[in-house]
Amino acid sequence: MSGAFSNLKNIIHLLKSVDLEQLQKISQKVDLPQLMNNFSKLDDKQLQGLMKMLNPNQKKKELPPIDGDFYDVFHTLPPEHRELQLKVRAFMEKEVKPIVNDYWLRDQFPFELIPKFKELNICGVTYDGYGCPNLPFMMEGVLAMEMARVDASIATFFGVQSGLSMGSIYMCGSEEQKQKWLPQMQKFDKIGAFGLTEPEVGSGAAGGLTTTCEKTEDGWILNGQKKWIGNATFADLIIIWARDLADGEVKGFIVEKDNPGFSVEKIKGKMALRIVQNGLITLKDCVVTEENRLQNANSFKDTAKVLRMTRAGVAWMATGCARGAYESALDYTRKREQFGKPIASFQMIQGHLVEMLSNLTAMQTLVFRLSEMQDEGILKDEHASLAKVFCTLRTRDVVSHAREVMGGNGILLEYDVARFVADSEAIYSYEGTKEINSLIVGRSITGFSAFV
Ligand SMILES: Cc1cc2nc3c(=O)[nH]c(=O)nc-3n(C[C@H](O)[C@H](O)[C@H](O)COP(=O)(O)OP(=O)(O)OC[C@H]3O[C@@H](n4cnc5c(N)ncnc54)[C@H](O)[C@@H]3O)c2cc1C
Repeated sequence: MSGAFSNLKNIIHLLKSVDLEQLQKISQKVDLPQLMNNFSKLDDKQLQGLMKMLNPNQKKKELPPIDGDFYDVFHTLPPEHRELQLKVRAFMEKEVKPIVNDYWLRDQFPFELIPKFKELNICGVTYDGYGCPNLPFMMEGVLAMEMARVDASIATFFGVQSGLSMGSIYMCGSEEQKQKWLPQMQKFDKIGAFGLTEPEVGSGAAGGLTTTCEKTEDGWILNGQKKWIGNATFADLIIIWARDLADGEVKGFIVEKDNPGFSVEKIKGKMALRIVQNGLITLKDCVVTEENRLQNANSFKDTAKVLRMTRAGVAWMATGCARGAYESALDYTRKREQFGKPIASFQMIQGHLVEMLSNLTAMQTLVFRLSEMQDEGILKDEHASLAKVFCTLRTRDVVSHAREVMGGNGILLEYDVARFVADSEAIYSYEGTKEINSLIVGRSITGFSAFV
């Protein structure tokens, strides 16, 4: 109705530009009040057509492109890396975007994407050898951002496969273990998961793991439970972290899905990252061979090395989620009209958009430097933690502004932003909560540990 009103106003405006003499001539030929009455009965589409006829030379206002990279941060990537970034973006737009809301709603994983992911040949992004691309850490981050820009669940699936589970084997496995598992995982022929968190032990995992491992003549016996384990319901292998009853140290194991004593139950009823299949794993006298114990994982410090790498990836993922929400919201506000104008033309809406963009730009520049530090080999736990805290916190803010400028449609899945709002809650909590990552940074800057 308001669109029709605005078109009618434009027609009157056009008629006003006709000079008096012409108008008199027209009024002799047509009944002007009747004409206006007829105009008022036309619908929006008909009025737009009429506008075009009356003013064929009027050009549609050209709007600036929608691009969340306001400081051109990523245009500085080498051409081949920029090309890969855009290739993954196109893949996400074409293959993932059209199906993702349906899978999210049904709490299911889109297995048809796995062979398509394989074709991209990006898994194990930074690893040297084993069929992996051996790209800089920068690209690991950029690709995580591109995936999360469309869907954070798919980015998480990839992060668990390529980062947490392959990363544990790459960083803590023997050469033989790497040769055995990494090439198959790189091609997604084997899917991995990473089991650290327990039902009663989350933030306190470093010193408090209750899952135990015990050396026997035939190998190892594992007992305990692991909660929240992404990909666990369909993974072929799960990295399990357990405390050795003999020396109290945390050790890592490659537990295969058909190991006796291993079982997994899907966690249902999540309000975020619903595509990620999180499992509750039970290990009851689960037998694992010495061959499947990660040969270079001797204490929690080795687990922490893997987390340092993947935590940086989570900061990138949060950035992607914020970027997806910002770009969707900007697009929406330019198309949605109220009071006869696009809502993007209102000052208060522009205020929301600029606040989103400021946060997004800060995040992008921060994670860019974070990955430079990773590539320079100077990244420490506190650097990754600061980025994780900042980006996941800001993302919650960005997605809430995005949802706000979309009015009622902001809570509808079909407009995507509702999914970003929900998913940002899970990213905020996993791989160390705000409090835990703040404590890591706090310890580093003050010299005092405040964990307990
Ligand atoms: C969707 C999703 C996917 C996940 N995927 C995996 C996975 O694949 N593998 C895996 O191992 N884990 C996974 N996790 C687990 C995740 O890492 C934990 O949820 C997270 O570490 C927090 O642990 P918790 O949930 O037990 O919370 P708790 O540790 O119980 O924390 C509850 C609250 O207390 C606060 N708190 C705790 N200790 C302190 C302290 N010392 N000082 C101040 N505040 C404190 C926390 O910050 C938090 O606010 C996943 C979680 C989610 C939600």
